[in-house]
Amino acid sequence: MEANWDNSQTILVVLAHPDDPEFFCGATIARWTSAGHKVIYWLLTCGDKGSSDPATDPRDLCGDRHIEQRAAAAVLGVQEVNFLDYPDGLLVPDLKLRREIVRIIRLVRPDILVTCDPKTLYVGDNRINHPDHRAAGQAALDAVFPAAGNPLYYTDLMNEEGLQPHSVREVWISLTLDPNVHVDVTALWERKLRALYEHKSQIGDAQAFTERMRSRRTPDSTPENPRYEEVFRRIIFA
Ligand SMILES: [Zn+2]
Repeated sequence: MEANWDNSQTILVVLAHPDDPEFFCGATIARWTSAGHKVIYWLLTCGDKGSSDPATDPRDLCGDRHIEQRAAAAVLGVQEVNFLDYPDGLLVPDLKLRREIVRIIRLVRPDILVTCDPKTLYVGDNRINHPDHRAAGQAALDAVFPAAGNPLYYTDLMNEEGLQPHSVREVWISLTLDPNVHVDVTALWERKLRALYEHKSQIGDAQAFTERMRSRRTPDSTPENPRYEEVFRRIIFA
């Protein structure tokens, strides 16, 4: 595979909302779990504002989205799903969030960390990227370097919880306009869709959703013979 990993990797996914992993990189995650790698999610919010219905109780939605996310992750073969449950829509890449992510990195001790690109402010001519996505990406990258691997940062995590510094080897940044890796996920596109269907509160009309997702083929392919990619900015620390 593109990643050229010889042995089993631990891959930590840090993103803002339930459904972000599946939308941004679900097919690649399926590819990794199928190859024997261990994937662990830590989601920073529970997506409790992910509804345009004013009658929605955010606490109910939060609970529903935990359930949906666990079901979607199971479709992809993900080992573990965890939530920090910050309020949806209010995520800020501050020092408190950075410390929380450093703590998670030192706890999980991943080889690879997956997040999203904080530089993606808008996409094309019809979409602004959600501020939580940018905040999650910024906080995750700031936690990876330099804090997580440096023993002079967050000595309390060492002294009180025994969490030793940990440096990840690679970062894979999804939702980027500046990719250097294109993963061909054609064979896994339907599995990605099956995972996304589990986010019932989010996908609306299933048929329209399916058509929209199937239309996201690469420009060099045809509707009869579609090809699909997920792209990343991959950083391998020297
Ligand atoms: Zn999101």
